[in-house]
Amino acid sequence: MSSSGYSRVLLKVSGEALTGEQSYGIEPEFLNAVARQIVDLTRLGVQVAIVIGGGNIFRGMAVAAKGGDRIIGDHMGMLGTVINSLALGDAIRRAGGRPHVFSSVPMPSIADTFTQRAAIAALESGATVICAGGTGNPFFTTDTAAALKAIELRCDVLLKGTKVDGVYSDDPVKNADATRFETISHEEVITRDLRVMDTAAFALARDNRLPIIVYALSAPEGLVGVLEGRTPSTRVG
Ligand code: UDP
Repeated sequence: MSSSGYSRVLLKVSGEALTGEQSYGIEPEFLNAVARQIVDLTRLGVQVAIVIGGGNIFRGMAVAAKGGDRIIGDHMGMLGTVINSLALGDAIRRAGGRPHVFSSVPMPSIADTFTQRAAIAALESGATVICAGGTGNPFFTTDTAAALKAIELRCDVLLKGTKVDGVYSDDPVKNADATRFETISHEEVITRDLRVMDTAAFALARDNRLPIIVYALSAPEGLVGVLEGRTPSTRVG
């Protein structure tokens, strides 16, 4: 176990966050900053798996809203997650880490096909595992993929970086009186109708007692600060 108290974590990085100040694609500075934070975490001795979204490239629902086929749109979205995963893997390598990209959509000339056994073996060997292709199925999101992979890979916690530094009693942007929870149970998130992840993802986390830490992606002390409890965040579960 590392000094942070965690042995293995799963980090969900939204695709949308990768655009940084741009309106589309990947902002290299932001990508490199995320990669550095991940490498810092692995240097503490924490095994890190990552699920990355694709919202900066395509979302199936957006394609469907313009008259396109939802399933083809979701396939395009999953391919977007592969592009982001390859880019993050390369940034982690440049930051001094050892990435291993797996894809739940088989494309063997680009990435190894995801299996629980191979991904756990890679984590145990010290590699940073990146899970591309979401769940591999349409009609899901990468939040659900993150909960699923965290459970399959037996991670201690799912780390979800967002624009705000935790779960609030109300939208902190609209309500100045909203307060941040230090900890909250899965049940209370549901009772209070607080949106932490989409419903399918949250149900998986609750049913499998997977804790979730919600933190601000922009946190200056990075992921290490979050896991060592120095950075504001909310722990669900
Ligand atoms: N997607 C999918 N199945 C999955 C994960 C993702 O079909 O298991 C598609 C879906 O169209 C989704 C897109 O990929 O909108 C990008 O993922 P997501 O919206 O979760 O990305 P994020 O919001 O994290 O950027």
